[in-house]
Amino acid sequence: MKVLIIGAGVAGLGIGWRLLQAGCSVTILERAQPGGGASWAAAGMLAVTAELEDAAEPERALALRASALWPGFAAELEAASGRSVFLNQGGALLLAGDAAKLEVMRARAEGELRIVDAGEARALVPLLGESPDLNRGGLWSPHEAHVDNRALTEALAVAFLKAGGTLLPNEGAVAIEQGTVLTPYGRYQGDAILVAAGAWSGLLDQIPIVPVKGEVIALTPPPGAALPVPVVWGEHVYCVPRPHVGLLLVGATVEEAGFDTSPTQAGCDHLRACAEKLIPSLKDWALSDHWAGLRPKSPDGLPLLGQTATAGLFVAGGQYRNGILFTPAIAAEMADLILGKTQVIPAFDPRRFLGRFA
Ligand SMILES: Cc1cc2nc3c(=O)[nH]c(=O)nc-3n(C[C@H](O)[C@H](O)[C@H](O)COP(=O)(O)OP(=O)(O)OC[C@H]3O[C@@H](n4cnc5c(N)ncnc54)[C@H](O)[C@@H]3O)c2cc1C
Repeated sequence: MKVLIIGAGVAGLGIGWRLLQAGCSVTILERAQPGGGASWAAAGMLAVTAELEDAAEPERALALRASALWPGFAAELEAASGRSVFLNQGGALLLAGDAAKLEVMRARAEGELRIVDAGEARALVPLLGESPDLNRGGLWSPHEAHVDNRALTEALAVAFLKAGGTLLPNEGAVAIEQGTVLTPYGRYQGDAILVAAGAWSGLLDQIPIVPVKGEVIALTPPPGAALPVPVVWGEHVYCVPRPHVGLLLVGATVEEAGFDTSPTQAGCDHLRACAEKLIPSLKDWALSDHWAGLRPKSPDGLPLLGQTATAGLFVAGGQYRNGILFTPAIAAEMADLILGKTQVIPAFDPRRFLGRFA
């Protein structure tokens, strides 16, 4: 089977890799460089606890499947590519900003998730110091993980190429017509075509996905200060340690601003203010980097995973804030869908929007 994929982010590369392993011939068209979209801009959290507080059941189930797959997926990908993805299972601490939030956390505290008081929270993250957000304690998830998403996309691209895939950078799809993808340089045909163009998917074939901008800053500790081990969540902010590069990522803003990816002073100031309220000593940490990216969001906030109304045309998109987390599950499940080995999950069926966005 010959498959054409539009977009070389974690979705396109991951699905392409799995399809190659299943014996398909796979070509990815990428309008820029692989891994330069949201997959580059993300903070890399596999945030099954914090990000899925209000998630619908099918999304929660997808997240849990993905989370369970991650250790094996990372090991397989590292062996196939010879690259590390820096999977770090240092846990996540979610501080309760107010009493209502703490009650919600109490209701979620089952299995390995447990409520911690201010003293325990400070012991887990000494950097919190005299944080005003510490008072009520919070929720502790001891094995929650994160990866270096930029290393992840590099590893996926290497594994994809080593498995025999064809990757055509700087060649964007401009239209899809009757089983043919048109680019400025040529026409490509496949038995199946997969749109995995992230926030830009909506520009192709009326797929209902819109961009949601997010800004992130990276801070460097002053001499003598150490990065936290877990990810720390406060109000409107999270802090993700990247020990292998000595940085603390602070994210992220959420804004519908079209396709603009420019970092703004207002975004930086907002993130610094939220982070310094959470961890006052961060005022002494130097700003090392600042960037923005576009999350792909569907009208109901759930992913679009499956065939569109056009036979042979598939989409993998709308992962919104959790596309890095979902990577191993989407790679396996979309490959099986394209190969006809499994049925679409109704909540993720792209055809649920039929007629509403034509
Ligand atoms: C600030 C921020 C923080 C985030 N943090 C996290 C996090 O901590 N954890 C998590 O799980 N998720 C996070 N996300 C979400 C996650 O990054 C995305 O859900 C995920 O990366 C989407 O992957 P993708 O492959 O679908 O899209 P992308 O990575 O955007 O890839 C799409 C690719 O398609 C290409 N393309 C576009 N149009 C065309 C075309 N016409 N022809 C050819 N190629 C095209 C683009 O150039 C791009 O390379 C974050 C996102 C942002 C912006």
